[in-house]
Amino acid sequence: MNFSTKQYFKKAEEGNYAIGQFNCSSADQVKAVILVAQKLNAPVIVGTSEGESKFMGLRQAVKLVESYQEETGLPIILNADHTYKDAKDIQNLDKIKALLDAGYNSIHFDGSVLPYQENVKWTSEVVKMCKEKNPDISVEGELGFLPGASKVSKEKLEFKEEYFTDPEKALEFVKVTGVDRLAVSVGNSHGISADEPKLDFDRIAKINEKVRDYAVLVLHGGSGIPDEDIKKAILLGIRKINVNTELRAAFTIALKDYFIKNPEETTPYKYLQASIDAMQKVVENKIIVFGSGGKAGSSF
Ligand SMILES: [Zn+2]
Repeated sequence: MNFSTKQYFKKAEEGNYAIGQFNCSSADQVKAVILVAQKLNAPVIVGTSEGESKFMGLRQAVKLVESYQEETGLPIILNADHTYKDAKDIQNLDKIKALLDAGYNSIHFDGSVLPYQENVKWTSEVVKMCKEKNPDISVEGELGFLPGASKVSKEKLEFKEEYFTDPEKALEFVKVTGVDRLAVSVGNSHGISADEPKLDFDRIAKINEKVRDYAVLVLHGGSGIPDEDIKKAILLGIRKINVNTELRAAFTIALKDYFIKNPEETTPYKYLQASIDAMQKVVENKIIVFGSGGKAGSSF
């Protein structure tokens, strides 16, 4: 790796911008993300959920991202998104071990469904395990509950006060666990729902004020939040934004359209190109809104 992950987020903090995490299921999607990162000279994070990394292969995802890193010189992080989301089979942390062995340079451990003390306990364990392997592996913890799943839904979501991240608890959480990044619940949700998410800006500011000396803030559910709200959240301290559903939708809709127009086509590199192009447009717009274009300079 030709850069430090600590430096990566420190730069974002100093420059008041956010770095996009773009989730990918396949090599075609990784290609779309990297092409835009190259075009805009932007630092990017490739995200893989448990399902996505299972489909791609852990080692294959690592080697693919590394090959792009070598070729482009861009600082690219590969983050394992929502590891242990359902908190099942957590006991021996074998999924974390597998990710570290494969060479992931960033891990998001999601203990948000656990009771607070359990979340603290397991997140601390994960941080310890990662830092023992390599102190520069970036670890993200999560506090608060995010409704929804990474898909386009016609239903409205319900938000309860207890879902939201408490600023005081957030400070305690980052201090005790030692995470580099904290994913927060501030009115955001996964996927795109029928109602527009309403971010609690006051809460973002309060959490950031508390935790900024210890960790950077992460906003999940970057799909479906209006650009102006995203910009405001960045000004208040959000440094990493996860985007998944909008990419999935763009990729899939383009593929469907292609086959409506070209039902006889059987050459994958022809029909996949439309999807890659569509996904690139989304990634490009996001990077512009996040303000991370032009930030992949040699200073890493
Ligand atoms: Zn998420």
